[in-house]
This record gives sequence, structure tokens and C-alpha cells, in this order.
Amino acid sequence: MTAHIIDGKAIAADLRARVAGEVARVKREHGLVPGLAVVLVGNDPASEVYVRSKHTQTQAAGMASFEHKLPADVAEADLLALIGKLNRDPAVHGILVQLPLPKSIHTETIINAIDPAKDVDGLHPNNAGRLAGGFAALAPCTPLGCIILTKSVHASLEGMNALVIGRSNLVGRPLVQLLLNENATVTIAHSRSRDLPKLAAGADLLYAAVGRPEMVRGDWIKPGATVIDVGINRIPVEGGKPRLVGDVAYQEALNVAGAITPVPGGVGQMTVACLLVNTLRAACAIAGLPAPGV
Ligand code: NDP
Repeated sequence: MTAHIIDGKAIAADLRARVAGEVARVKREHGLVPGLAVVLVGNDPASEVYVRSKHTQTQAAGMASFEHKLPADVAEADLLALIGKLNRDPAVHGILVQLPLPKSIHTETIINAIDPAKDVDGLHPNNAGRLAGGFAALAPCTPLGCIILTKSVHASLEGMNALVIGRSNLVGRPLVQLLLNENATVTIAHSRSRDLPKLAAGADLLYAAVGRPEMVRGDWIKPGATVIDVGINRIPVEGGKPRLVGDVAYQEALNVAGAITPVPGGVGQMTVACLLVNTLRAACAIAGLPAPGV
């Protein structure tokens, strides 16, 4: 039996279309145009690609997109001044500072300066704390995407055993909180965990967010489990474009898992779609409107 391949591309396209529908509705009924400001510091090529894709998809959803490009040697005070301006700008409902920032800038200071109501990356301590407390919060986009992909396979995650490998603030930790909200039983593993294969053997849902190519082997996986591979690893190819691989040995996993996300074409597709969802939600909340239907 081969695993069902979870089509992140199609699921993300459907989500973007539903966001666009809701954006058109709030525009028509309330004259509200959700706006996303993306701040890029420096010229890291991968970050430039991400920012371009965010810009295109934001506009395609009918939202306003504001791009701010700053040189790598920008003073922290100038970046803070820009964030202050965006916090006060009524046309901006979401602020995303593309990470990583140059080493000269203290990332935590920058994230803490973003108005939590506009923190569509869900990284501000207010949002992280609210999420951890089980309160309504803007949650980080990649874990939100992981939950949607899982729910494309399982209508309810209640009582399922989930293993999350990775404990970053961006992916692993918020994913654990979202899974708890879905009433899953969650184990979180990291670089100091012992016997990952044994932990994986009991997991109905396995999330790999590590950044180590093909670390999770096929024989770790519980037969029939749903595997969500967050990893994006670039493997150099002589004379060609780098090959993208996930944190899961995909070909091996295909023969064991019940369902699996490919890399590319899985989680990566969902991250920007969920950013659009968060921007729409933030805009409605700031305008005092009911939460949108996505
Ligand atoms: P981080 O480097 O911040 O975190 C990696 C986590 O993996 C850490 O918690 C680390 O543990 C853990 N880890 C490292 N080595 C091992 C090991 N041998 N065994 C078990 N755990 C280990 O990465 P991110 O969370 O930011 O990203 C993870 C992956 O997801 C990367 O490949 C990244 O490119 C990808 N990613 C994909 C996105 C998408 O849109 N699809 C978005 C964001 C990230 P410890 O805490 O102990 O150091």
C-alpha cells in the first residue's frame, strides 16, 4: 500500500480562493481593504524569493501589499521607527518582518515592537503566550498550515497521539499548542530527546520540523500514520539547481505512512496562504468586525 499524498498545492489554492472571497465580501459590505506590510532587511536571496511570493499572493487575494526594503546595515533605531509608523498606519493590518535579520539587529527587540494586533507571523510574546494559554491568538503560519493539512485527512484529531520533532518558536512550539487545542495527545522531541524511533513508533501523527535532510526514516513510522514534513533542505546538485528534500525519507515513508506531505508541494505552500488568513483575521478584528469565515 502506498500512502495518500497530501496535495498542499491544491489545499493552499483552495484556501487562497476562500480568503479572496472573504476579502471581496468585507470590501463590499464594510469598505475594508486588508493590508499587509512586509519588511525585508538586506538582500538574502531566499528571503527575497519569499517576500516576492508574499507580495504577489497578497495582491491576488485582493488585499493591499506594502513592501519596505531596507539595506543590511540599517540602524536598529530606523527599523524600529518604521515599525512604529506601520503600527500607527490604519491601512496596514498585518506586519511581517522577514527573518532572519542581519546579526547587527536584535530580532527579539524588533518582534516585541510590532503591535500584537498586527503580528500576523504570531511571534510576539503576547500572541505566543495567548496561544500557550489556550486563548484566541494570531498563531504562526506554518503550524496553522500543518493543522489544515492534517485535517484534510482526519476530520478530528481528538485523542490521537502526535509527535512533533523540533521546538522552535516558529514551528515546533506553536504546533504543539495548536495540536493541544485540537485535543491531540502531544509529545515534543528535540536534539536532546532519546530514542526518536521509539517515540515515532507510537505516533498516529508525525510532524518533522528539524532542518536535517531525510532524518526520519521509513522504519520509524507507525504503519498508517499521517506524516507532515515541514523541513525544507537544499541539497546541492553539481551544475544544476539545488534539490529540495524534507526532514523525512520520503520514498521509504511512502510504503509505511497512511498519508504524507511531499517536499516541495506540501507544507511550504500553506505558509503564505495562512499568512493571508491571518491578515484577513487581523483586519476584521482591528475593524471590530466578526471573525471571517476562513
Ligand atoms: P530551527 O533550527 O529553529 O529548529 C530546529 C529544531 O530541530 C530544534 O528544536 C532542534 O532541537 C531540533 N533538532 C535539531 N537536530 C535534531 C535531531 N538530531 N533530533 C531531533 N531534533 C533535532 O528550525 P525551524 O523550526 O525554523 O525549521 C525547521 C525546518 O522547517 C527547517 O528545515 C526549515 O527550513 C523548515 N521550515 C519550513 C517552513 C515552511 O514554510 N515549510 C517554514 C519554517 C521552517 P534543539 O531545540 O534541541 O536545538
